This record gives sequence, structure tokens and C-alpha cells, in this order.
Amino acid sequence: MSESKDSSLDKVSETKQRLDKVSDAFCLAKWYQATLHLHNGNTQSCHHVGSHRVHKTDLNARGPMALHNTPEKKLERTQMRKGQKPAGCEYCWKLERQGEISDRTYKSAEDWSMPFLDETAKFDGSEDVLPKYLELAFDNVCNFKCMYCSPLYSSSWEAEIKKHGPFPTTGFYNNMSLFKFQGRSVLPDQDKRKYIDAFWEWWPQLKNELIHLRVTGGEPLLTDETWRLLDELKSGEFKNLNFAINSNLGLSTKIMKKFVDNLNQIRPNVKSVLVYASIDTVGRQAEYIRNGLVEDQFFTNLETLLRETDGKVVASLMITVNALSIFGLKGLMQKIEALRQKYPEAVIAFDTPYLRNPEHLCLHILPPEMSVYIQEAVAFLKQSDYFSDREVNRLERLLSLMKDNPWGKSKLKRLREDFYKFMKEHDLRRKTDFLGTFPELDEFWQDIETHLGRWTFRKLTEFIRPQL
Ligand code: SF4
Repeated sequence: MSESKDSSLDKVSETKQRLDKVSDAFCLAKWYQATLHLHNGNTQSCHHVGSHRVHKTDLNARGPMALHNTPEKKLERTQMRKGQKPAGCEYCWKLERQGEISDRTYKSAEDWSMPFLDETAKFDGSEDVLPKYLELAFDNVCNFKCMYCSPLYSSSWEAEIKKHGPFPTTGFYNNMSLFKFQGRSVLPDQDKRKYIDAFWEWWPQLKNELIHLRVTGGEPLLTDETWRLLDELKSGEFKNLNFAINSNLGLSTKIMKKFVDNLNQIRPNVKSVLVYASIDTVGRQAEYIRNGLVEDQFFTNLETLLRETDGKVVASLMITVNALSIFGLKGLMQKIEALRQKYPEAVIAFDTPYLRNPEHLCLHILPPEMSVYIQEAVAFLKQSDYFSDREVNRLERLLSLMKDNPWGKSKLKRLREDFYKFMKEHDLRRKTDFLGTFPELDEFWQDIETHLGRWTFRKLTEFIRPQL
């Protein structure tokens, strides 16, 4: 049932006031949240900001604390203390300019950050700190190729790009040479091992400090290191730890059973267990967006999790709102309501972050009148007893984002053309059928096609992709 409470909004607004007293750029996520991509030696403070490499020399000199306290993060912490807004956090600044509540506040209101506000307000930014919320990827092994993902997080994407090259968009989407230049390529095995070993060296210190540990990938359940971590959690006591794991739930019955058995053994040892499962919409559109997804398998595995963990494991759906996901958003909300009705003992949460990259797949490329699909979903949530104020608020903020297009006319035109080129190439490579799957976009598509010139693009595609 809904956790609908006005108090959740009160808490958020009180947090904002307390943060702003320190500075209007102050965000506790910069200190206490870390994502570690061990397979490419990168780190970031939250998923809205870009990642950067942890230098091997720094790791050798300072040990595993260097995995989180990089010179780049320390500079941004210092900026925030002085009231300067780091450019990498534009996601939050933009929402705040629009009068919305950003993740700077939502994240700082959490149990892993808010208790440390007073202490952190005394720091100048140069201190080493242990993360309280750690997101961890051991590898990029994945059986899916979601439309907006990349070879950095999916070995299936990596194989496709190695075979066919980057997509023929303006910026050559998923260009591996660019990742190499940026220091983000997946590392060779012996280099990857250095970062993974550093993590295991850090683990005895970390495990007693962490409040949240979230394992991601790739698909983490296809990586041996994840099962090693699950074994660790089965064999110890971690009373303050909230353990979470991402999964695409594209798992065989056998792996799903082993996973649920492990979670049931871990559950008494930790404070909570949560499974984040990603799905963006329903039906064929969902399967198109998240290539590899079989909707029935997803919901069967989700129900196995809900049923066989007796409501002791929280399931949270990660719904990445993008240009193709909004048509079925209301349908997905209806499924969530039905699950909440069927499993009243279970906690079935969800979040609706919006996609920012690649830009050609963002909501903003759509004509603003298409926000009607989001309005329908919001209206559905409002009339139901099964959704909280916060859930409605998070979905509703997408409406103002759609109204306010961040790009000028020429950039919008270029991104729409990139959208078209991406989808054409997607259909060629993956034998998919864009227009058959998204009839809602027929007029939009024809419009771009008319401007782009059918003949030129077809010939160009045939020329550069003769093997498809
Ligand atoms: S200000 Fe926003 S983008 Fe920056 S670290 Fe905080 S939550 Fe992330």
C-alpha cells in the first residue's frame, strides 16, 4: 500500500533549508556517495555526474581510500563548501533554476547522508572520507543491449560495436576510440584485477561503515565476483547495512532460484535487502528499448522474488524515462498498482529518473504536446490509493522538463536527425521494426525523414554498412 505522507515532502523541504544554510551548492552526495566501476577503474560521486579514472599511481601510493577520494572529487567538495556550483552537477542546477527540488536535496535527505551534515559542514573538502552509499560494478558482462546503454556497461554492446563500429549519428554514438581517449575503456583483465583487488583489500574497513551497498554491472548476477560478495554477506553480520543489487531480471529460472535462495540467507544478516529491477514501459516497446528483455520473463522473475522472499526483500523498479518510454508509462503504472494489490505484504517501490544521455534519446526531442502521455500517467497515479505524494511529484516534474526545451532550434533539429539515424541503424543491426513498434511516432518520424532526405540517408547507410 502507498506510503503517502505529507511528511515526506516536509522532510525534503527542511533538508533544503539546512543545506542552503551551509551553501546553495552543498550536497552530501559528493562526500558520501560513490560509484566504483572496477572494470574500467573509474569513479563518480552520483549517477548524474560523469565518471573519471582513479589513477593507478594514486592507488599504489594511497591505497584503496584513493578509490573514492580522488583529487577531482576533493576539488568539487571544496567548491561546494564555498558556494560554487561544480559544472558536472548541472542536472541538479537546472532543476533548481526551474524551481524544482533536485537530487541535491533528495539525496542529502537520506539516512546515509543527513546524519553527517553537521560534521561535514566543518570540512573544507580536502579530507578523506569513507563512502556511506557505495555503488559497485565489478564488470560489464551483460546479456542486454539497452538502447541508451554503452559498451562500458554491457559486454553485448561492446561485441556489437566491435563488429559494426559506432552508430552513424553526428557524434558517432558509442565510439570506443572516444572512450579510450577519455580513459573510460574497459580495462584488460590484469589491470581490471588491480582495482578489484583494491576493493577486496578495502572491504574489511568498508563493511562496517557502509550504510548502503548497491551492486550493479553489467548484469551483476553474470559475474563471479558478485557471487563472492553474496557469500561474504551470507557469512557475516552487517546490522547497519542496507544491501541492494541491480538486475535486468533477464535470468534463467535456475539463476533466479539461486539468487532468491542467497537473498533469503543474507536477509537476517543485514538491515535490509533491495533488488532494483529495470524496466521503462510495457510490451513490445519495453522490449525494443531494453534489447534482450522478454517482458513475460521479467514479470515472472519479479513475482518469484516477491512471492519467495515473503515480503522481506524490497523490489524497486527503475524506470528510465526517455523519448520512447512515455507511451506505455500509464500501462506500467497500472502493472505496479496490480502488483501492489496482489502482494500487499511486499514493498514494491519505483523511481522515474529521466534520461540525459544520449541526448538524441531524451524526452526533449519530442514535440511538447506529447507530454499528454505523461499527464495520463500522472492522472492515473493521483486517482489511485496505491501511490505516494513523492512518487507523483517525481513523475510530475517531467512535465515542466518537457515544456522547457534546453536546446536552440538548430541543436533540436540535429538531435532529431540523430534520433532518426540511430533508429534506422538500430533496425538494420538488430532486425527490429521501429515504426511497427512505435506507431505513436509515425508523424514525427515522417517529418524528420522529409527534412533529412530519404534517398541520401538510405544510400549513405548502404555505403557504410554493406554487411547489414
Ligand atoms: S549536486 Fe546533484 S548531481 Fe551533484 S553530486 Fe549532488 S545529487 Fe549528484
